[in-house]
Amino acid sequence: MSEGLKAVEGDTIETPVLIVGGGPCGLMLANELGRRGVEATER
Ligand SMILES: Cc1cc2nc3c(=O)[nH]c(=O)nc-3n(C[C@H](O)[C@H](O)[C@H](O)COP(=O)(O)OP(=O)(O)OC[C@H]3O[C@@H](n4cnc5c(N)ncnc54)[C@H](O)[C@@H]3O)c2cc1C
Repeated sequence: MSEGLKAVEGDTIETPVLIVGGGPCGLMLANELGRRGVEATER
């Protein structure tokens, strides 16, 4: 799947870090990982 495309149910995602839940904790974690150059995906 290309970067920036939205995954649909049944798609396989390969990512170093999968964050489940886009609440304050999940969004902050994604932000902090991104600042450190770690790719993360939120579902
Ligand atoms: C009525 C109310 C009022 C509040 N008022 C305040 C306030 O004024 N000030 C304050 O500091 N705090 C307040 N809080 C507390 C604050 O909302 C929480 O502490 C904070 O949202 C916790 O953040 P979190 O990221 O840990 O979890 P959450 O915000 O709960 O985020 C978790 C995310 O994970 C998602 N999720 C859950 N299960 C799954 C699953 N199986 N698969 C995929 N996604 C999933 C949820 O949809 C959500 O988006 C309030 C809470 C409530 C209920």
